Amino acid sequence: MKKENLRQNICKVEATSCQNCSLNGKLMCKFDIKDTIYFIIPVLSAWIAMVAGILHGFISGGLNTFQVVFFFSSYIAYLAFFFQVWENKILCSHCPYYAFEVEKKIKCYANYGIYKAWKYNPAPMSRSEKIQFIIGISLFAGYPLVFLFLAQMYIYFGISLILSIIWIVSMHFLSCSKCPNFSCPLNTVPKNIVDEYLRHNIVMRKAWEGQGYIID
Ligand code: SF4
Ligand code: SF4
Repeated sequence: MKKENLRQNICKVEATSCQNCSLNGKLMCKFDIKDTIYFIIPVLSAWIAMVAGILHGFISGGLNTFQVVFFFSSYIAYLAFFFQVWENKILCSHCPYYAFEVEKKIKCYANYGIYKAWKYNPAPMSRSEKIQFIIGISLFAGYPLVFLFLAQMYIYFGISLILSIIWIVSMHFLSCSKCPNFSCPLNTVPKNIVDEYLRHNIVMRKAWEGQGYIID
């Protein structure tokens, strides 16, 4: 398969055949900038509110320099570890966007540009990985909220909490319902679509059936 097709297409069908595919439009199985925009705007909104709250706390004297430096350095370090190492392994390494070895970076709607630090594993996520992912994403969203609460920035805490809930709800409807990483605990793609995709992806199908998955 040509490199250009790999970039557009994460199944075993040539990208030019997508128009004739029964899954066309039902899955985010090709990179589309619109999917990234739908995913990233709610996350950025929540982040902006959180960062604004921390900075306002610092300017108004509610937070001292040590607290602000501690927050930003620890959160940035966590984000780097989470995206590049932890989530990269437990979630992304199972995703068909991770599959092609000629590509050194992920080119998906959510983590575009992140290095593939691990070997592709087409089998579904294990129970332990699902639990770790829930813990990891809770820290990702919850750490700044806890910090705002402890700093008594209640208005920013409330706004950030509402925006975080909007992010989770929008992700549920706009991303998780069409994401091809089906074993993610947040994934809501219907089984008939999963089965149809697995018929297009022989490597993943073999790995899934090897773990006991049954295609109807
Ligand atoms: S599953 Fe269908 S729509 Fe998706 S990339 Fe493959 S051919 Fe295209
Ligand atoms: S679609 Fe999701 S699971 Fe797949 S590589 Fe991108 S961020 Fe990771």
